[in-house]
Amino acid sequence: MSKRLVLVINCGSSSIKFALRVEGEPSPILSGLAERLTTPEGVLRWRAGNERDEMKIADGLHSTAVAGILPLIDRFAKRPLTAVGHRVVHGGEHFTGAYVLDANAVRAIEESIPLAPLHNPANLIGIREAMAVFSKIPHVAIFDTAFHQTMPPHAYRYAVPEVLYSKYGVRRYGFHGTSHHFVANEASRLLGMDVGQGAWLTAHLGNGCSTCAVLNGKSLDTSMGMTPLEGVVMGTRSGDVDPNLPAYLSRTLGWDLAKTDYVLNHESGLLGLSGLSNDMRTLVAARSEGHAGATLAIDVYCYRLARSLAGLAVALPRLDGLVFTGGIGENSPLIREMTVGHLQILGLAIAPERNLTPPGNPAREIQAAGSPAILVIPTDEERQIAEESLALLDFDRIQPVPERD
Ligand code: AMP
Repeated sequence: MSKRLVLVINCGSSSIKFALRVEGEPSPILSGLAERLTTPEGVLRWRAGNERDEMKIADGLHSTAVAGILPLIDRFAKRPLTAVGHRVVHGGEHFTGAYVLDANAVRAIEESIPLAPLHNPANLIGIREAMAVFSKIPHVAIFDTAFHQTMPPHAYRYAVPEVLYSKYGVRRYGFHGTSHHFVANEASRLLGMDVGQGAWLTAHLGNGCSTCAVLNGKSLDTSMGMTPLEGVVMGTRSGDVDPNLPAYLSRTLGWDLAKTDYVLNHESGLLGLSGLSNDMRTLVAARSEGHAGATLAIDVYCYRLARSLAGLAVALPRLDGLVFTGGIGENSPLIREMTVGHLQILGLAIAPERNLTPPGNPAREIQAAGSPAILVIPTDEERQIAEESLALLDFDRIQPVPERD
């Protein structure tokens, strides 16, 4: 039987990321990104092996981008697609794992829109466009929140009146689940343990950043909460602030909630602290030239990150290793070194020469002798989505979407 083929789609409000993956193979045969959609500058870029190209999406429509992706799939697939795997940001409490999309599931994703007003509507655009085009094959949704549905109530409940949870879903959900799950599995592989075993702290550090405590393949706690704003410092997101801050800003500056929401999500984090950039590469370069804002932003980022990791350690019975992933986690020796410098309490120490990023950036161990493992593992969310989609089809666990009370 020839290996199965999965198209992975990650549809955002102004972009569609896609990858065509053959079962069990580490690299996609085709991958690409349509970006600046909804504007006249829409563009679709793709690569397949050494071949690459781009085309304009002049009307900026998601449907035009999907229409542009189709012939590429026909050209490079060379066999029928088995499934389409969709990344969906928020599944609320409806979804504890991957799910074959049907009308009920689409309705449940719609019901979760109030929890992720920026992300879920965009994800639904991709689902609807792709379901219209590939109408004869299963479409599977993989939720960023689903991996964290194993958190116990003492980790996911906020100390607010019970009715806010039971009637309105106010609780911690967590995000980046696909990435935390993938790197925790890779960590056990790298250390020669059974896949799915081990006690890990994982740090996904990209534009969005989160930490997670994973025990034997299950998330026990994570830094993001009801929305992806809670937790550690991110590119433009503040992470944790005093919950009274919106009230204070309203009283003193007259800011309404929309203004505060915008500032905490888009003008804070590394950008707000440094006054320079949300991009860690820019900040690392500026710090080396003595830029005070960049230096402070990196100091706060690493300290808060270490504090989050040390806090999550209480969820684990022991520590088999700390994993760094995401654009910053995979590529920045400075951030890894400064963060681990705050984690002596966990016995963690880095070997400086191993910490340097080698060409090709392979998964590797960077701890000093006597320290628990410290691992750098490139994440691959598309691969995880493809594998979970196929695993779901194998087990055929199509279940009704549970209703909330
Ligand atoms: P991601 O969202 O996973 O693509 O990560 C984006 C972040 O990774 C941005 O802040 C980049 O500046 C950062 N990044 C990528 N390469 C490096 C590097 N060599 N050093 C520091 N940060 C990096």
